[in-house]
Amino acid sequence: MEQLVEENLQTVRREMELACRDSGRRIEDVKLLLATKTVPLEKLHSAMQAGETLFGENKAQELRYKFPLMQQHKQAEWHFIGHLQTNKVKDVVKYVTLIHSVDRLKLGQALHHHLMKENKTMDILLQINTSYEESKFGASPETAIELAEQLSQFDTLNMKGLMTIGKLNATNEETRHCFRLLKDIQAQIKKKNIPHVEMDVLSMGMSGDFKVAIEEGATIIRVGTSVFGQRYLPDSYYWNENMRGND
Ligand SMILES: *Cc1c(COP(=O)(O)O)cnc(C)c1O
Repeated sequence: MEQLVEENLQTVRREMELACRDSGRRIEDVKLLLATKTVPLEKLHSAMQAGETLFGENKAQELRYKFPLMQQHKQAEWHFIGHLQTNKVKDVVKYVTLIHSVDRLKLGQALHHHLMKENKTMDILLQINTSYEESKFGASPETAIELAEQLSQFDTLNMKGLMTIGKLNATNEETRHCFRLLKDIQAQIKKKNIPHVEMDVLSMGMSGDFKVAIEEGATIIRVGTSVFGQRYLPDSYYWNENMRGND
């Protein structure tokens, strides 16, 4: 099992290098984040042993469960990539350095409130629903600029860029379209020169589409299945409309 994680990591790293080479990008400019939802601790440990340091979780309770392992590996950095309900904000802020999934003003307000109390700041990305699929969270591309402007008023939030989930089970061209749209929104927001808003991070690309994402400018790819194998829970458990909280 342990060996498998290492082998898979080597394969993914090699594919990343090829994608960078083919698109004239530098490998240092693309980070590999391992998406670890439902992944057992032993596999996570193997990835850490293999030198991986960037991990992403989708749920507050899984972060809590994995916290002891985090403490053993101080060099590891944790990001939050899942749908965040406002009542879970404080459980998440405790553990992570970047939240990829800020997609509405109300969530920004809740984060700001909590961070003020704790006298902290937090790096965030805006999640955009570039595939327009009902089942995905994220702000609509049409509201992205307005949301960036609204969130920029919260001085506890450092906006670093954008995140998206590309269209799944789609052709490369359909997925590419999602990633191009994200890049386009990034350019539009940059042009606005909103105070305190940086737009250098593009979190896009998963197991099935990270090569396309790298070609289209991803600076963080989020990979789970290709490294850890199939999950026993369907992604709809994490992404489905039914999972939306009441906020
Ligand atoms: C699960 C997940 C991933 C990784 O997906 P794989 O297809 O397993 O690589 C990436 N991003 C988010 C937001 C996820 O929930």
